[in-house]
This record gives sequence, structure tokens and C-alpha cells, in this order.
Amino acid sequence: MSIRVYELAKELGCSSKEMVQKLNDLHVNVKGHMSAIGEETAEIVRHELLGKKEPEKKKQKSKKKAEEKNEARLKPLNLKVPVRVKDFAQKINKSVPEVIKKLITLKVMAAVNQTIDEETTRLLAQTFGFALEKELTKEETLLIKHKPSSDTKGMLTRSPVVTLMGHVDHGKTSLLDVLRESNITGKEAGGITQHIGAYEVKLPKGNVTFLDTPGHQAFTAMRSRGATITDIVIIVVAADDGLMPQTNEAINHAKAAGVPMIVAINKMDLPGADIDKVKRQLADVGLTSEDWGGSTITVEVSAKKKTGIKKLLEMILLEAEMLELKADPNWLAKGVIIESKLSRGSGPTATMLVQSGTLQLGDIFVCGLTHGKIKSLVNDQGVRLEKAGPSMPVEISGISDVPMAGDEFYVVEDEKKARDLSVGKNESLRQEKLMPAQRFILEDLFDRALEGKTQELKIIIKSDVQGSLEALSTSLEELGTKDISVNVIHSQVGGISESDVMLAIASDAVIIGFHVGIDNKAKEIAKKKGVDIRLYRIIYEVINDVRLSMEGLLEPTIRETFLARAKVLEVFKIGKLGKICGCMIVKGKFVRNAELVRLYRNDECLYEGKLESLKRYKDDVKEVGEGLECGIGLNKFDSMASDDIIECFKVEKIVRKL
Ligand code: GDP
Repeated sequence: MSIRVYELAKELGCSSKEMVQKLNDLHVNVKGHMSAIGEETAEIVRHELLGKKEPEKKKQKSKKKAEEKNEARLKPLNLKVPVRVKDFAQKINKSVPEVIKKLITLKVMAAVNQTIDEETTRLLAQTFGFALEKELTKEETLLIKHKPSSDTKGMLTRSPVVTLMGHVDHGKTSLLDVLRESNITGKEAGGITQHIGAYEVKLPKGNVTFLDTPGHQAFTAMRSRGATITDIVIIVVAADDGLMPQTNEAINHAKAAGVPMIVAINKMDLPGADIDKVKRQLADVGLTSEDWGGSTITVEVSAKKKTGIKKLLEMILLEAEMLELKADPNWLAKGVIIESKLSRGSGPTATMLVQSGTLQLGDIFVCGLTHGKIKSLVNDQGVRLEKAGPSMPVEISGISDVPMAGDEFYVVEDEKKARDLSVGKNESLRQEKLMPAQRFILEDLFDRALEGKTQELKIIIKSDVQGSLEALSTSLEELGTKDISVNVIHSQVGGISESDVMLAIASDAVIIGFHVGIDNKAKEIAKKKGVDIRLYRIIYEVINDVRLSMEGLLEPTIRETFLARAKVLEVFKIGKLGKICGCMIVKGKFVRNAELVRLYRNDECLYEGKLESLKRYKDDVKEVGEGLECGIGLNKFDSMASDDIIECFKVEKIVRKL
């Protein structure tokens, strides 16, 4: 049994803020009014605040009474949140000043036209005797329509959707081409093979849909937008090369998505093919092949000699059978966009994968921020269709604008609804942009666990050497308790890349960089999406931070704000001053009193510390702007070289908000 801080505050007649203070005085670490505390702690607080403990029986009774009273008193209030103060007042039939006054008692200052968030609305509603019930958004209502309840009557088996992933040059594209040729129908009458982002292979025992964009980046990018459309991942490994960094990355991405894998060991025609080595490496990453006593299906193939292809397809169908993939074709179609473009003749076109229902010519739909009416349906053979059922990829036209890959697609009843929905979506997107992204961050771990939201801390580790990866993974996973397990979902040598950030978004993970830097694209996305990336240089500090976060004791966040980036053009030795780099400021304004400076060489961080000097010609200067040259000296560090990147940051301590 646990109770929220605000509930206890209300029960004892004090403000949530006072309650948080009281709890902190009692060394109970709570973050805010929504934090949950145990019944025993609550009892201690009651005792402290009321001055005496109620006898056990009476306590039980009064608690029950309070609960009953609460339930009887609170009327349900159906509202869409966030809500404007004005609209809230209107909804509950109170005057605006009355509502504002109540808000002030909740320590929230809001004007008549300002919006209040869900938590505040909930509290506010309670003070007026209402229990907030969130109104479903239009999309949510629609979604319900597209989700045939537990009724499985209309469900039919659908074909699997497969993605090929693996290291570059291991043969993904070649294999996709060969697999495509195994279509029994050959080229359909009048059709010309078209690359529409996905294709279907028809086999005597069933069909398979292959996504034509190989690689885990596309897979995870889709997933980070909430769309997991792949049922089975084929990991392609070249038999002569074995598992390479991107193979491992692909495996981790598939694992994180919980998608089953089949391993295609390609290039078996090469004399250097070493099947035992590959299977040993697979076993090392937890994919022990069946003939080695494991459960991973491995198939030896050669895209060049076209051997093993039939077996691979058979294994895909077998795996699909075990997955019991089903969809109801008698429903309004729902799907996901996998590719889109603007073509001169037919305007915006997109390839969508139908996931359930049947898509028909003339259907009216909403898709991401766009909408439209299906003008044409063309399959991967260039054949015009009248309709397309589950697991079929089709190119569609008749869209108002170009949608994005990963956008969800819904057929709706009429055009007005389609327009309303896309307008609504545009509006919520605008709202979303105004609000800063808030993802899972390490400081939140404890509170989320208390609220029952997190039982698992997922971590991605990037490091400069293999040794520290292993040491870190083991030590971190050992920190797991019965309440919160620690799971390193991906660890790899190298700088933090876009792909890592996408994986973090898709899996709600925290990224830990050890002696490595972050590439610019990754930094940009992480900032935009609020991904928690932490850079460390000492193992103990990593472990300590994670441990503290699990105990809810993590100290205030140190926020680094990027100020400027300089590129080293030349390095000079200047007498006893040591070395100075002649630099060009490529971005931002470099400032003399920046709290933190880092030097990177190929994404690897070689220096972290203070700025020693900043000069324009011979003069010390306070700042140097973009496009200008300057001299930069670092504290007790002189192994800089041309093309190194030096960045400076502002460092602030962000105190945890109550
Ligand atoms: P991807 O980067 O994984 O898409 O790999 P590609 O399909 O582009 O193949 C990379 C190279 O390997 C190309 O030169 C292919 O011709 C070659 N290749 C692909 N499959 C085989 C195979 O089974 N045997 C041999 N010998 N070469 C192959």
C-alpha cells in the first residue's frame, strides 16, 4: 500500500509543499506531490503532525471512513488536459476568480487564458470535489475503433514482415534481391518490378513481406516513433568475416525491440567461410544455434550462388507459424507508412504496410499530419490493385501532403472526420513543440519505480575500450535489486552515435559514455528529445551515480550547455607556456570563462577541464565569435593536433525540483 504525497497532505490539512518539506526533514526522499510513500511512512508523518498516534482500530476505521467519504464526495469530471483556466471554470460551473484563488492555494499562478497541466488539474478538481477523468483524444477514440477487442472471430493468419540487418557489405542487399526472385508468380502480368520500400514474396506455403530498407538504423528510427512493424529480423553475417560491430549493434537493436531473429550466414561460397567461428561468436552474444544446443535458427546461404535461399524462406515461414501472427481483414484498414516521396505526376505518394483491415480504393484516411482519399493502390510489381489486406505493402496516392516514415495510417468513415483529425493532430504537435521534451532521466528512476512505472533501468554503454565495457556492464547489472533490475541493452566500443540515441528513445534507456564523446547529430537529437546522456571518465562514478539514482538520492543534475566549437588548424609551441592551438571558431562564441572545455579527436574525448588561455593575436580576450581565428591553450595538456575539435560549455547545477 502506498499513498501519494498530495493525498497525505490533503488528509492532514497541509499543502503538498509543506508535506514534501516535512518528509525531507524526516529523511524520506520524495520529489514532489505525485511521489508515493509507503503506508508506514505515512503513519509516522500522521503521528508527527497530529502529535499522537491513533489506536490501531480507530485508525483503520477512520481510514475506511475517509476513503468512503472521498469516494462519495468526488464526482467524475470528464476533461481534456491540459486545460485552460477559463474552460475549467466553465466546465465545473464556477467563476474564474474562484478557480484562480484555489490555484493560488495550490501555489500555482495562472491567468484566465493559461493552461494547467494534468497533475494540477487533478488536484484542482479534487479541491472542488471532482475526480478528473481524462477525456479520450479523437485519435484514442479512433484507435479503439481500430482495435477489435478480444473478439478473435474475424482474425486470420497474416504473413510475416521481415527486415534484414547486419554489418555493411555482408550481403543484405544481395540477399534481398535473391529473395525477391523466389516469388512463384514471377513478374505479374503487366507489372514491372518497383522499389517501393517493401515487397512480397509469394510461396506455395505462404507469403513473406520484406522491408526493402536493410539496416538497424531504419528499424530503430521507426521504433523510436512508436512503430514496430517487423515480426522477424534476419541477421546477415558474412561467413568469412564473422560478427562485426554493426552485427552486434543490429542484434542488440532487435533484442531491445523483442523481435525474434534468424541468422543467415552468407557468402558460404567463399573459401574463407568459417562456420564454426560464426557459431561460436553467435553463442557468445546469446544466440547459440540449434545444432549447438541453443534455440537460434541459423541458415547457411550464398546470395551469389543462390544457395540456401529456399531453406531460409522455409525457416521464416516456420518462425512465423510459431508466432501465430493474426489480423482481422474485415475492418477499416490501419497501417504504417514505410516510405514517402513527392512525385511530379501523381503528387505525394507513400508506401504503406497494411497491418490490419483491408485498404480499398476510395477509402478516406488520416496519416500523420496529412489526410486524403485513396486514388490508387499499386503493389511492388507495379500492378494496380483494388484493395490490399494485412501485411501487404502498397504504394498509395491521393494524400494531401507527404507523410513521414513511421506515421500511422487510419481509414476513417468520412472526410470531415479526416480533416478534423489532422487539424487536431497539427494542433497537438504544435503544443508538443512548445513544451520541452521530457524523457526518462536517471534522477527520475526512483520516483518512477515508486509509482510502479519502472521496474527496469535500461542502459546503453559506449566506451573507448572493450575492457571497460565489460567491467561496467557487469558492475552495473549487479546493482539490480528485486525492485529495479539493471539491464545493459547495448554496449559497444566507440563514440555515442545517432543510432544509440534512437535506441535510447525507442527503449526508454539512459546512455552512458565512458571516455568517449557524442557526435553532433546524436547530440542534436538527444537535446531535442530530452535523452539522458552522461559522460564519465571514472568507473566508480558511473556505478555510484546509478546506485544513487536507484536509491532516489542522485544529487542535482549538472547541466552542460554547449557554447562553441573550435577546430584546431595548427599547433604552436610557445616557450614556457606550453602548446597553443591556432583555431577557427566553427560554431558559437568561445568564451574565456567557460566552466568546461573538452577536446575530441574522432569522437574520442582526450581532454576535459579548464581553458587556460584564449587569445586573439597576442592579446588575451574574453570571447571570440564564429568564423574568427584564435589561440587556445589548455591546462597541462599539450598533445593536441590539427583537426582536433575543442568545445566549450557552460556548466550549471540544476537543483532537483520539488
Ligand atoms: P550490404 O552492404 O550488406 O547490403 O552488402 P551487399 O549486398 O551490397 O554486398 C556486399 C558485397 O558482397 C558485394 O560486392 C556483393 O557482391 C558481395 N556478396 C554478397 N553476397 C555474397 C555471397 O554470397 N558470396 C560472395 N562471394 N559475395 C557476396
